Amino acid sequence: MPVYLRHSSSLEHDTGFGHPERADRIRALEADLERRGWLGWERRDAPQASEEQLLAVHTPEHLRAVRELSALEGAFDIDTPLSEGSWEAALRAAGGTCAMVEMLLSDGERTGFAALRPPGHHADRARAMGFCLLSNVAVAARHALDSLGADRVFVLDWDIHHGNGTNSIFHASPEVLFASIHQYPFYPGTGPLGDVGSGAGEGFSLNLPVPGGSGEAVFLSLVDHVAVPAARQFRPDLILVSAGFDAHRADPVGGCALETSSYGELARRVRALADELSVPVGAVLEGGYDLDALAASVATTMEALADGGPPRSVERHRLADAAAEMLGRYWEL
Ligand SMILES: [Zn+2]
Repeated sequence: MPVYLRHSSSLEHDTGFGHPERADRIRALEADLERRGWLGWERRDAPQASEEQLLAVHTPEHLRAVRELSALEGAFDIDTPLSEGSWEAALRAAGGTCAMVEMLLSDGERTGFAALRPPGHHADRARAMGFCLLSNVAVAARHALDSLGADRVFVLDWDIHHGNGTNSIFHASPEVLFASIHQYPFYPGTGPLGDVGSGAGEGFSLNLPVPGGSGEAVFLSLVDHVAVPAARQFRPDLILVSAGFDAHRADPVGGCALETSSYGELARRVRALADELSVPVGAVLEGGYDLDALAASVATTMEALADGGPPRSVERHRLADAAAEMLGRYWEL
């Protein structure tokens, strides 16, 4: 049975009036899932991340800063305020993502979704930013590599923003293949096509910038013709999705044009890849700020990840050609 990780502490990270990354996001998507009978998924409470799990990615100074700023109800920057409940929420968001990965790699589950906040993909080793405190996906990927027998992890980040934190943490590592489709130029300003990783990690960062206004023809083509073929050759033991839903056309923060059904198409591609490679897949909530679009897109993603089905074929887009030309030095695309 697919597993859904959640925790009530996600509602206690208070970002203040008018902030798009708010507790109502979780309330909205869970109210929708409740109406759908949770799609038959098993709900589990997220544990706290252990100090060991966190220190494998973050500096002790960063962890102390998150804890202290939470107690003080301070902020890292104007986008990234904390409340008293933020530290506990952040521990559960990272810990729930680690627990999901344990269920996938040790307990034989094939599909998971971690719907916790705060999100994580902008948080670097020693830095919180962009609504993110701890790098949930990076901490879980590191946990899979260090403690659960995985040799390689594929991370697909389809949030509209570049996952600069995850990318930076694994920039020089060949253990994580990181593929990000993101609006560009846009916040946080990183992730040009030419940033392919560094050192032993050269070729293991697939940065796929797209112009504002891009719709599913672009996103799906980049997945079909760049991310999936590279991941197939990479042969991961685990697939993680940094699942943001702010590329939805209704999103007030993003500027792209995906439909709710586009997330089903994206998720079906991930499901098909996971089936082909016989590896589990876990999705982790990142952004997504229109409550109705978020709720519908999360449910659509969960359904497609669990049920699969043939992805609809799309024409090869010129941006996929440009990306293949750059990244074809490392992968057969
Ligand atoms: Zn985002």
